[in-house]
Amino acid sequence: MQVKFIGATETVTGSKHIIETDKGFKILLDCGLYQGMGKETETLNRNLGFLPSDIDVVILSHAHIDHSGNIPLLVKQGFLGSIYCTPPTLEVVEVLLLDSAKIHEYDIEYVNKKREQRGEDPLTPLYTVKDVERCMKHFKTVPYHADFHLNEEVSFKFTDAGHILGSAAISLTLKHSDHKVTHLTFTGDIGKYNDMLLKDPECFPQADYILCESTYGDRLHEIDTDAELHLLNVVRNTCLEKKGKLIIPAFSLGRTQEIVYILDKLKNKKLLPNIKVYVDSPLSTNITDIMRENVSCFNERLQEYIKNDPDPFGFSNLKYIREKEESIALNSSKEPCIIISSSGMMDAGRIKHHLANTISDPKNTILVVGYCSPNSLGGKIKSGEKEVKIFRKLYEVNADVEVIDSYSAHADYNEIIRFLSCQDKSKIKTVFLIHGDPDAKTSFKDKLEKEGYPNVVIPSKNDIHFLE
Ligand SMILES: [Zn+2]
Repeated sequence: MQVKFIGATETVTGSKHIIETDKGFKILLDCGLYQGMGKETETLNRNLGFLPSDIDVVILSHAHIDHSGNIPLLVKQGFLGSIYCTPPTLEVVEVLLLDSAKIHEYDIEYVNKKREQRGEDPLTPLYTVKDVERCMKHFKTVPYHADFHLNEEVSFKFTDAGHILGSAAISLTLKHSDHKVTHLTFTGDIGKYNDMLLKDPECFPQADYILCESTYGDRLHEIDTDAELHLLNVVRNTCLEKKGKLIIPAFSLGRTQEIVYILDKLKNKKLLPNIKVYVDSPLSTNITDIMRENVSCFNERLQEYIKNDPDPFGFSNLKYIREKEESIALNSSKEPCIIISSSGMMDAGRIKHHLANTISDPKNTILVVGYCSPNSLGGKIKSGEKEVKIFRKLYEVNADVEVIDSYSAHADYNEIIRFLSCQDKSKIKTVFLIHGDPDAKTSFKDKLEKEGYPNVVIPSKNDIHFLE
Protein backbone atom coordinates (compact mmCIF):
# COMPACT_ATOMS: atom_id res chain seq x y z
CA MET A 1 0.00 0.00 0.00
CA GLN A 2 1.41 3.39 -0.95
CA VAL A 3 0.86 7.09 -1.51
CA LYS A 4 2.33 8.92 -4.49
CA PHE A 5 2.57 12.72 -4.51
CA ILE A 6 1.87 14.07 -7.99
CA GLY A 7 1.00 17.76 -7.49
CA ALA A 8 0.98 20.54 -4.89
CA THR A 9 4.36 19.38 -3.63
CA GLU A 10 6.73 22.28 -4.31
CA THR A 11 3.82 24.69 -4.75
CA VAL A 12 0.35 25.51 -3.45
CA THR A 13 -1.50 24.51 -6.63
CA GLY A 14 -2.10 21.38 -8.73
CA SER A 15 -3.29 19.23 -5.81
CA LYS A 16 -3.13 15.51 -6.81
CA HIS A 17 -2.18 12.51 -4.68
CA ILE A 18 -2.65 8.83 -5.50
CA ILE A 19 -3.27 6.12 -2.89
CA GLU A 20 -2.76 2.57 -4.14
CA THR A 21 -4.01 -0.38 -2.09
CA ASP A 22 -2.43 -3.85 -1.81
CA LYS A 23 -4.78 -5.12 -4.53
CA GLY A 24 -3.89 -2.21 -6.83
CA PHE A 25 -7.06 -0.10 -6.36
CA LYS A 26 -6.10 3.49 -7.12
CA ILE A 27 -7.71 6.50 -5.44
CA LEU A 28 -6.90 9.97 -6.71
CA LEU A 29 -7.25 12.62 -3.98
CA ASP A 30 -8.10 15.89 -5.82
CA CYS A 31 -7.28 16.70 -9.42
CA GLY A 32 -6.37 20.37 -9.36
CA LEU A 33 -4.99 22.79 -11.88
CA TYR A 34 -1.60 24.40 -11.50
CA GLN A 35 -1.98 28.17 -11.39
CA GLY A 36 0.49 31.05 -11.71
CA MET A 37 3.52 28.88 -12.63
CA GLY A 38 4.43 31.15 -15.57
CA LYS A 39 5.22 29.46 -18.90
CA GLU A 40 5.33 26.04 -17.23
CA THR A 41 1.67 26.21 -16.19
CA GLU A 42 0.25 25.06 -19.53
CA THR A 43 2.62 22.07 -19.88
CA LEU A 44 2.09 21.01 -16.26
CA ASN A 45 -1.68 21.05 -16.74
CA ARG A 46 -1.72 19.23 -20.08
CA ASN A 47 0.32 16.33 -18.66
CA LEU A 48 -1.45 14.83 -15.68
CA GLY A 49 1.55 12.70 -14.73
CA PHE A 50 -0.33 9.38 -14.67
CA LEU A 51 -2.69 7.40 -16.87
CA PRO A 52 -6.29 8.54 -16.16
CA SER A 53 -7.72 5.12 -17.07
CA ASP A 54 -5.56 3.59 -14.30
CA ILE A 55 -7.42 5.55 -11.60
CA ASP A 56 -10.45 3.80 -10.05
CA VAL A 57 -12.04 6.69 -8.12
CA VAL A 58 -11.48 10.35 -7.33
CA ILE A 59 -12.26 11.83 -3.92
CA LEU A 60 -12.43 15.63 -3.99
CA SER A 61 -11.71 17.74 -0.89
CA HIS A 62 -13.27 20.99 -2.13
CA ALA A 63 -14.28 22.97 -5.20
CA HIS A 64 -11.37 25.41 -5.57
CA ILE A 65 -9.85 25.12 -9.04
CA ASP A 66 -6.37 24.26 -7.74
CA HIS A 67 -8.03 21.12 -6.29
CA SER A 68 -10.74 20.35 -8.85
CA GLY A 69 -9.80 22.21 -12.04
CA ASN A 70 -8.25 19.37 -14.02
CA ILE A 71 -11.10 16.85 -13.53
CA PRO A 72 -12.54 17.63 -17.01
CA LEU A 73 -9.19 16.73 -18.61
CA LEU A 74 -8.97 13.57 -16.48
CA VAL A 75 -12.33 12.42 -17.85
CA LYS A 76 -11.49 13.58 -21.39
CA GLN A 77 -8.30 11.48 -21.24
CA GLY A 78 -10.04 8.26 -20.23
CA PHE A 79 -11.01 8.22 -16.53
CA LEU A 80 -14.15 6.06 -16.21
CA GLY A 81 -14.83 5.94 -12.46
CA SER A 82 -16.83 7.97 -9.95
CA ILE A 83 -15.84 11.28 -8.36
CA TYR A 84 -16.97 11.69 -4.73
CA CYS A 85 -17.50 15.00 -2.94
CA THR A 86 -19.88 16.60 -0.42
CA PRO A 87 -23.29 17.83 -1.72
CA PRO A 88 -22.41 21.59 -1.49
CA THR A 89 -19.08 20.95 -3.25
CA LEU A 90 -20.95 19.43 -6.20
CA GLU A 91 -23.02 22.60 -6.61
CA VAL A 92 -20.04 24.93 -6.36
CA VAL A 93 -17.66 22.84 -8.47
CA GLU A 94 -20.04 22.75 -11.44
CA VAL A 95 -20.19 26.56 -11.53
CA LEU A 96 -16.42 26.93 -11.10
CA LEU A 97 -15.52 24.31 -13.73
CA LEU A 98 -17.89 25.85 -16.29
CA ASP A 99 -16.29 29.23 -15.63
CA SER A 100 -12.82 27.67 -15.93
CA ALA A 101 -13.75 26.06 -19.29
CA LYS A 102 -15.01 29.38 -20.62
CA ILE A 103 -11.70 31.03 -19.65
CA HIS A 104 -9.72 28.24 -21.40
CA GLU A 105 -11.86 28.55 -24.53
CA TYR A 106 -11.53 32.36 -24.54
CA ASP A 107 -7.76 32.34 -23.90
CA ILE A 108 -7.04 29.83 -26.65
CA GLU A 109 -9.00 31.92 -29.16
CA TYR A 110 -6.58 34.80 -28.52
CA VAL A 111 -3.51 32.51 -28.67
CA ASN A 112 -4.73 30.94 -31.93
CA LYS A 113 -5.22 34.34 -33.58
CA LYS A 114 -1.53 35.05 -32.90
CA ARG A 115 -0.53 31.56 -34.09
CA GLU A 116 -2.48 31.99 -37.31
CA GLN A 117 -0.61 35.26 -38.03
CA ARG A 118 2.65 33.34 -37.62
CA GLY A 119 1.41 30.50 -39.86
CA GLU A 120 1.30 28.02 -36.95
CA ASP A 121 -1.31 25.29 -36.33
CA PRO A 122 -4.09 26.18 -33.86
CA LEU A 123 -4.09 24.73 -30.34
CA THR A 124 -7.09 23.16 -28.63
CA PRO A 125 -8.23 24.44 -25.22
CA LEU A 126 -7.28 22.37 -22.15
CA TYR A 127 -10.99 21.54 -21.96
CA THR A 128 -14.29 23.00 -23.09
CA VAL A 129 -17.75 23.59 -21.62
CA LYS A 130 -18.81 20.29 -23.29
CA ASP A 131 -15.98 18.45 -21.48
CA VAL A 132 -17.19 19.88 -18.16
CA GLU A 133 -20.75 18.77 -18.88
CA ARG A 134 -19.43 15.26 -19.62
CA CYS A 135 -17.31 15.09 -16.45
CA MET A 136 -20.21 16.22 -14.22
CA LYS A 137 -21.91 12.87 -14.93
CA HIS A 138 -19.16 11.11 -12.94
CA PHE A 139 -19.86 13.03 -9.71
CA LYS A 140 -21.53 11.40 -6.71
CA THR A 141 -22.15 13.04 -3.35
CA VAL A 142 -21.49 11.71 0.12
CA PRO A 143 -22.70 13.77 3.10
CA TYR A 144 -20.38 14.87 5.90
CA HIS A 145 -19.79 12.23 8.63
CA ALA A 146 -21.18 9.25 6.65
CA ASP A 147 -18.93 6.17 6.51
CA PHE A 148 -18.86 5.38 2.82
CA HIS A 149 -17.65 1.92 1.76
CA LEU A 150 -16.05 1.85 -1.67
CA ASN A 151 -15.13 -1.84 -1.54
CA GLU A 152 -13.77 -4.41 0.94
CA GLU A 153 -10.45 -2.54 1.08
CA VAL A 154 -11.47 1.11 1.26
CA SER A 155 -13.95 3.30 3.11
CA PHE A 156 -13.87 7.05 3.74
CA LYS A 157 -15.50 9.86 5.66
CA PHE A 158 -15.76 13.61 5.01
CA THR A 159 -15.44 16.05 7.93
CA ASP A 160 -15.91 19.83 7.64
CA ALA A 161 -12.60 21.60 6.98
CA GLY A 162 -14.17 25.08 7.38
CA HIS A 163 -12.30 26.42 4.34
CA ILE A 164 -15.06 27.13 1.80
CA LEU A 165 -18.65 25.99 1.37
CA GLY A 166 -18.57 22.17 1.12
CA SER A 167 -14.87 21.79 1.97
CA ALA A 168 -13.84 18.57 3.66
CA ALA A 169 -10.97 16.67 5.14
CA ILE A 170 -10.99 13.10 3.77
CA SER A 171 -10.31 10.28 6.24
CA LEU A 172 -9.63 6.94 4.56
CA THR A 173 -9.74 3.51 6.21
CA LEU A 174 -7.58 1.15 4.18
CA LYS A 175 -7.41 -2.62 4.71
CA HIS A 176 -4.20 -4.47 3.88
CA SER A 177 -4.17 -8.02 2.46
CA ASP A 178 -3.19 -9.31 5.92
CA HIS A 179 -6.30 -7.50 7.34
CA LYS A 180 -4.21 -4.85 9.09
CA VAL A 181 -5.89 -1.43 8.87
CA THR A 182 -4.31 1.92 8.02
CA HIS A 183 -6.01 5.26 8.65
CA LEU A 184 -4.97 8.13 6.42
CA THR A 185 -6.37 11.67 6.45
CA PHE A 186 -5.95 14.22 3.69
CA THR A 187 -6.74 17.63 5.21
CA GLY A 188 -7.53 19.36 1.90
CA ASP A 189 -7.33 23.09 2.67
CA ILE A 190 -7.99 24.01 6.30
CA GLY A 191 -10.09 27.06 7.18
CA LYS A 192 -9.80 29.59 9.99
CA TYR A 193 -11.48 29.37 13.37
CA ASN A 194 -14.21 31.96 14.09
CA ASP A 195 -14.79 32.57 10.39
CA MET A 196 -17.43 35.13 9.51
CA LEU A 197 -19.63 32.63 7.65
CA LEU A 198 -18.28 29.09 7.99
CA LYS A 199 -18.22 26.65 10.87
CA ASP A 200 -14.90 25.92 12.60
CA PRO A 201 -12.77 23.13 11.12
CA GLU A 202 -13.92 19.85 12.74
CA CYS A 203 -12.05 17.08 14.52
CA PHE A 204 -11.25 14.15 12.28
CA PRO A 205 -10.79 10.45 13.12
CA GLN A 206 -7.44 9.31 14.52
CA ALA A 207 -4.98 8.85 11.67
CA ASP A 208 -1.75 6.92 11.16
CA TYR A 209 -0.77 9.17 8.28
CA ILE A 210 -1.78 12.78 7.59
CA LEU A 211 -1.37 14.66 4.31
CA CYS A 212 -1.47 18.18 5.70
CA GLU A 213 -1.71 21.47 3.83
CA SER A 214 0.82 24.13 4.84
CA THR A 215 -0.04 27.24 2.81
CA TYR A 216 0.43 29.50 5.85
CA GLY A 217 2.98 27.25 7.57
CA ASP A 218 5.17 30.27 8.25
CA ARG A 219 2.56 32.96 8.82
CA LEU A 220 0.12 34.25 11.40
CA HIS A 221 -2.92 36.25 10.33
CA GLU A 222 -3.03 39.92 11.09
CA ILE A 223 -5.74 40.64 13.57
CA ASP A 224 -7.96 43.50 12.51
CA THR A 225 -9.88 44.05 15.71
CA ASP A 226 -12.73 45.56 13.81
CA ALA A 227 -12.79 44.83 10.08
CA GLU A 228 -16.41 46.01 10.04
CA LEU A 229 -15.49 49.47 11.35
CA HIS A 230 -12.47 49.62 9.04
CA LEU A 231 -14.71 48.92 6.03
CA LEU A 232 -17.29 51.46 7.19
CA ASN A 233 -14.61 54.15 7.50
CA VAL A 234 -13.38 53.46 3.97
CA VAL A 235 -16.97 53.63 2.66
CA ARG A 236 -17.66 56.94 4.44
CA ASN A 237 -14.38 58.49 3.37
CA THR A 238 -14.75 57.47 -0.29
CA CYS A 239 -18.46 57.76 -0.94
CA LEU A 240 -19.50 60.60 1.42
CA GLU A 241 -16.42 62.80 1.80
CA LYS A 242 -14.69 62.30 -1.57
CA LYS A 243 -17.95 61.49 -3.41
CA GLY A 244 -16.08 58.81 -5.34
CA LYS A 245 -16.36 55.15 -6.20
CA LEU A 246 -15.14 52.42 -3.90
CA ILE A 247 -13.78 49.49 -5.92
CA ILE A 248 -13.41 46.20 -4.04
CA PRO A 249 -11.74 43.40 -6.01
CA ALA A 250 -12.82 40.12 -4.41
CA PHE A 251 -12.77 36.39 -5.11
CA SER A 252 -16.18 35.20 -6.30
CA LEU A 253 -16.35 32.39 -3.78
CA GLY A 254 -16.24 33.41 -0.13
CA ARG A 255 -14.69 36.87 -0.03
CA THR A 256 -17.47 38.52 -2.07
CA GLN A 257 -20.14 37.08 0.24
CA GLU A 258 -18.15 38.09 3.35
CA ILE A 259 -17.97 41.71 2.18
CA VAL A 260 -21.67 41.72 1.25
CA TYR A 261 -22.53 40.22 4.65
CA ILE A 262 -20.58 42.98 6.48
CA LEU A 263 -22.37 45.61 4.40
CA ASP A 264 -25.68 43.88 5.15
CA LYS A 265 -24.92 44.07 8.88
CA LEU A 266 -23.97 47.76 8.58
CA LYS A 267 -27.19 48.38 6.67
CA ASN A 268 -29.26 46.69 9.40
CA LYS A 269 -27.50 48.82 12.02
CA LYS A 270 -28.40 51.86 9.87
CA LEU A 271 -24.70 52.78 9.61
CA LEU A 272 -24.28 52.24 5.89
CA PRO A 273 -24.63 55.49 3.89
CA ASN A 274 -27.49 55.55 1.41
CA ILE A 275 -25.42 54.60 -1.66
CA LYS A 276 -25.73 51.95 -4.36
CA VAL A 277 -23.75 48.73 -3.99
CA TYR A 278 -23.05 46.50 -6.99
CA VAL A 279 -21.73 42.96 -7.15
CA ASP A 280 -20.59 42.95 -10.75
CA SER A 281 -19.80 39.34 -11.67
CA PRO A 282 -21.98 36.54 -13.08
CA LEU A 283 -19.83 33.97 -11.24
CA SER A 284 -20.16 35.74 -7.87
CA THR A 285 -23.91 36.06 -8.45
CA ASN A 286 -24.27 32.31 -9.18
CA ILE A 287 -22.19 31.37 -6.16
CA THR A 288 -24.15 33.69 -3.87
CA ASP A 289 -27.33 31.89 -5.02
CA ILE A 290 -25.76 28.54 -4.05
CA MET A 291 -24.76 29.95 -0.66
CA ARG A 292 -28.31 31.16 -0.02
CA GLU A 293 -29.56 27.59 -0.59
CA ASN A 294 -26.96 26.13 1.79
CA VAL A 295 -27.25 28.36 4.85
CA SER A 296 -27.39 25.26 7.06
CA CYS A 297 -23.68 24.79 6.29
CA PHE A 298 -22.85 28.11 7.95
CA ASN A 299 -21.93 28.83 11.57
CA GLU A 300 -24.30 29.44 14.48
CA ARG A 301 -23.78 33.21 14.45
CA LEU A 302 -25.05 33.36 10.89
CA GLN A 303 -27.93 30.98 11.71
CA GLU A 304 -28.94 33.40 14.48
CA TYR A 305 -28.56 36.39 12.18
CA ILE A 306 -30.89 34.97 9.52
CA LYS A 307 -33.66 34.62 12.08
CA ASN A 308 -33.96 38.43 11.84
CA ASP A 309 -32.72 38.91 8.29
CA PRO A 310 -33.42 35.90 6.04
CA ASP A 311 -31.06 37.12 3.31
CA PRO A 312 -27.60 37.99 4.66
CA PHE A 313 -26.42 38.50 1.08
CA GLY A 314 -28.97 41.04 -0.03
CA PHE A 315 -30.36 44.47 0.98
CA SER A 316 -32.34 47.24 -0.67
CA ASN A 317 -29.45 49.17 -2.28
CA LEU A 318 -27.58 46.09 -3.44
CA LYS A 319 -27.72 44.89 -7.04
CA TYR A 320 -26.13 41.77 -8.51
CA ILE A 321 -25.08 42.24 -12.14
CA ARG A 322 -24.86 39.43 -14.67
CA GLU A 323 -25.32 41.31 -17.97
CA LYS A 324 -22.28 42.84 -19.65
CA GLU A 325 -24.25 45.95 -20.75
CA GLU A 326 -25.20 46.78 -17.17
CA SER A 327 -21.58 46.35 -16.13
CA ILE A 328 -20.39 48.73 -18.84
CA ALA A 329 -23.08 51.26 -17.86
CA LEU A 330 -21.44 51.59 -14.42
CA ASN A 331 -18.42 53.21 -16.07
CA SER A 332 -20.35 56.28 -17.15
CA SER A 333 -22.19 56.71 -13.83
CA LYS A 334 -20.83 59.62 -11.80
CA GLU A 335 -22.67 58.63 -8.62
CA PRO A 336 -20.67 57.57 -5.55
CA CYS A 337 -21.06 53.79 -5.17
CA ILE A 338 -19.41 50.55 -4.12
CA ILE A 339 -18.45 48.06 -6.84
CA ILE A 340 -17.44 44.55 -5.76
CA SER A 341 -16.05 42.58 -8.68
CA SER A 342 -13.67 39.75 -9.50
CA SER A 343 -11.02 38.54 -9.88
CA GLY A 344 -9.50 39.10 -6.45
CA MET A 345 -5.95 39.41 -7.81
CA MET A 346 -7.26 41.84 -10.46
CA ASP A 347 -5.63 39.98 -13.37
CA ALA A 348 -8.83 38.90 -15.08
CA GLY A 349 -12.55 39.61 -15.21
CA ARG A 350 -14.62 42.77 -15.06
CA ILE A 351 -12.59 44.29 -12.24
CA LYS A 352 -9.94 45.32 -14.80
CA HIS A 353 -12.46 47.57 -16.59
CA HIS A 354 -13.50 49.17 -13.30
CA LEU A 355 -9.88 49.77 -12.32
CA ALA A 356 -9.03 51.29 -15.70
CA ASN A 357 -12.03 53.59 -15.27
CA THR A 358 -11.32 54.73 -11.70
CA ILE A 359 -7.67 54.25 -10.71
CA SER A 360 -6.33 57.61 -11.92
CA ASP A 361 -8.88 59.76 -10.09
CA PRO A 362 -7.97 60.62 -6.45
CA LYS A 363 -11.61 60.76 -5.38
CA ASN A 364 -11.88 56.96 -5.81
CA THR A 365 -10.55 54.20 -3.54
CA ILE A 366 -9.32 50.68 -4.32
CA LEU A 367 -9.84 48.41 -1.31
CA VAL A 368 -7.70 45.24 -1.37
CA VAL A 369 -9.28 42.51 0.77
CA GLY A 370 -7.49 39.35 -0.36
CA TYR A 371 -4.21 37.71 -1.13
CA CYS A 372 -2.54 38.98 -4.31
CA SER A 373 0.59 37.31 -5.67
CA PRO A 374 3.36 39.95 -5.99
CA ASN A 375 3.42 39.83 -9.81
CA SER A 376 -0.33 40.19 -10.25
CA LEU A 377 -1.96 43.57 -10.98
CA GLY A 378 -3.42 43.43 -7.45
CA GLY A 379 0.03 42.77 -5.99
CA LYS A 380 1.43 45.82 -7.76
CA ILE A 381 -1.41 48.09 -6.64
CA LYS A 382 -1.21 46.73 -3.08
CA SER A 383 2.55 47.36 -2.89
CA GLY A 384 2.02 51.02 -3.79
CA GLU A 385 3.23 51.19 -7.40
CA LYS A 386 2.50 54.63 -8.82
CA GLU A 387 1.83 53.46 -12.37
CA VAL A 388 0.27 50.17 -13.53
CA LYS A 389 -0.51 48.56 -16.87
CA ILE A 390 -4.14 47.59 -17.52
CA PHE A 391 -5.06 46.18 -20.96
CA ARG A 392 -1.55 47.13 -22.18
CA LYS A 393 -2.04 50.81 -21.26
CA LEU A 394 -0.28 52.67 -18.44
CA TYR A 395 -2.45 54.27 -15.75
CA GLU A 396 -1.31 56.55 -12.93
CA VAL A 397 -2.44 55.29 -9.53
CA ASN A 398 -4.01 58.41 -8.01
CA ALA A 399 -6.91 56.69 -6.26
CA ASP A 400 -6.39 55.85 -2.58
CA VAL A 401 -5.34 52.25 -2.00
CA GLU A 402 -6.61 50.71 1.25
CA VAL A 403 -5.87 47.21 2.52
CA ILE A 404 -7.79 45.03 4.94
CA ASP A 405 -5.55 42.01 5.46
CA SER A 406 -7.50 40.09 8.06
CA TYR A 407 -9.68 38.11 5.65
CA SER A 408 -8.38 34.68 4.75
CA ALA A 409 -9.80 31.28 3.85
CA HIS A 410 -6.70 29.48 5.13
CA ALA A 411 -5.67 28.60 8.67
CA ASP A 412 -2.39 30.15 9.81
CA TYR A 413 0.21 27.90 11.44
CA ASN A 414 -1.26 28.16 14.93
CA GLU A 415 -4.67 27.23 13.55
CA ILE A 416 -3.29 24.22 11.64
CA ILE A 417 -1.66 23.06 14.88
CA ARG A 418 -5.00 23.55 16.63
CA PHE A 419 -6.74 21.55 13.86
CA LEU A 420 -4.25 18.69 14.32
CA SER A 421 -4.57 18.77 18.10
CA CYS A 422 -7.58 16.39 18.04
CA GLN A 423 -5.06 13.65 17.25
CA ASP A 424 -3.02 11.45 19.59
CA LYS A 425 0.45 12.37 18.30
CA SER A 426 2.02 9.14 19.51
CA LYS A 427 -0.20 7.18 17.11
CA ILE A 428 0.78 9.19 14.05
CA LYS A 429 3.43 7.49 11.95
CA THR A 430 4.03 10.37 9.50
CA VAL A 431 2.74 13.85 8.74
CA PHE A 432 3.38 14.71 5.08
CA LEU A 433 3.47 18.44 4.37
CA ILE A 434 1.97 19.43 1.04
CA HIS A 435 0.29 22.44 -0.55
CA GLY A 436 2.80 25.06 0.55
CA ASP A 437 5.79 27.00 -0.73
CA PRO A 438 9.16 25.47 0.25
CA ASP A 439 9.88 28.08 2.98
CA ALA A 440 6.42 27.67 4.53
CA LYS A 441 6.84 23.89 4.66
CA THR A 442 10.34 23.94 6.15
CA SER A 443 9.27 26.40 8.80
CA PHE A 444 6.10 24.42 9.58
CA LYS A 445 8.05 21.13 9.78
CA ASP A 446 10.19 22.73 12.55
CA LYS A 447 7.10 23.88 14.40
CA LEU A 448 5.40 20.46 14.23
CA GLU A 449 8.57 18.73 15.44
CA LYS A 450 8.73 21.14 18.38
CA GLU A 451 5.09 20.28 19.08
CA GLY A 452 6.14 16.63 19.36
CA TYR A 453 5.09 15.16 16.01
CA PRO A 454 7.63 12.39 15.60
CA ASN A 455 8.01 12.14 11.84
CA VAL A 456 7.30 15.11 9.56
CA VAL A 457 8.15 14.63 5.89
CA ILE A 458 8.20 17.09 2.99
CA PRO A 459 7.62 14.95 -0.11
CA SER A 460 8.88 15.92 -3.56
CA LYS A 461 6.96 15.54 -6.80
CA ASN A 462 6.47 11.87 -7.75
CA ASP A 463 7.78 10.60 -4.39
CA ILE A 464 6.26 7.30 -3.28
CA HIS A 465 5.89 6.43 0.41
CA PHE A 466 4.78 3.02 1.63
CA LEU A 467 1.94 2.89 4.14
CA GLU A 468 2.23 0.33 6.91
ZN1 LIG B 1 -8.81 25.93 -1.31
